[in-house]
Amino acid sequence: MEISFTGQRALVTGAGKGIGRGTVKALRAAGAEVIAVSRSPEDLQSLALECPGVETVCVDLGDWSATEAALSDIGAVDLLVNNAGVALLQPFLDVTQEAFDRNHAPILNAPSIHHQIVARHMIKRGVGGAIVNVSSQASQVALQDHSVYCATKGALDMLTKTMALELGPKKIRVNCVNPTVVMTDMGRANWSDAHKAAPMLNRIPLGRFAEVDEVVHSILFLLSDKSTMITGSCLPVDGGYLVT
Ligand code: NDP
Repeated sequence: MEISFTGQRALVTGAGKGIGRGTVKALRAAGAEVIAVSRSPEDLQSLALECPGVETVCVDLGDWSATEAALSDIGAVDLLVNNAGVALLQPFLDVTQEAFDRNHAPILNAPSIHHQIVARHMIKRGVGGAIVNVSSQASQVALQDHSVYCATKGALDMLTKTMALELGPKKIRVNCVNPTVVMTDMGRANWSDAHKAAPMLNRIPLGRFAEVDEVVHSILFLLSDKSTMITGSCLPVDGGYLVT
């Protein structure tokens, strides 16, 4: 199945590392113009060297007004990937305000503002578009020490569905992918301990965690014209974790 994004412009958040970085590279390889949005300038500089032609925007997506200022003049965007996120895991009774704000802000606050900026542009241009939010299997199942992360990703799933409902008539599709653990920096920080990872792996019918490319391919499918009748869906990329 050939997927091409030639002539389309994509914006990817959390583009500096992991799944976001992989998504930028795959979109470029498939012909898209790409705006890479992330927080650490050195990541964006190395990405621009690796992927010539990628535009970069350095902003903390946890800051609503800074995000609005950085992206309000971004222009036409056909494809949006809301991927930025952090996972600060704490037992529920020990959750701090800081952990709540740091988990919640990039996943929900900022996606809301740049969802709005991008969707308004799409509607003004009358061409529609496609949006993919990077959620998690944690949106649908409780995991130890994940209360804030699970709650935030659960909210992201519902944001995806309500946006699909409201933006569908404007020809904008909105979906999310819900991966299991991926051994990015985030995955390694939380799942490198084999003792902790074993029960999770034992519940995955395919018996392993996901690779970055497996998530990226699902994102590209949902952005592409191969999924034109799919909106409001939450696609597990979890080796079957959620079936049990
Ligand atoms: P990484 O930690 O590898 O990369 C996350 C990227 O997002 C980094 O470039 C980071 O920048 C950026 N980012 C985080 N917060 C902000 C912010 N406030 N403003 C701007 N950029 C920000 O994570 P992954 O690639 O693993 O995760 C990507 C998404 O996938 C997340 O939404 C995560 O919840 C989700 N996911 C990940 C899984 C996993 O096991 N890895 C499993 C399921 C879902 P910086 O490093 O500079 O902070």
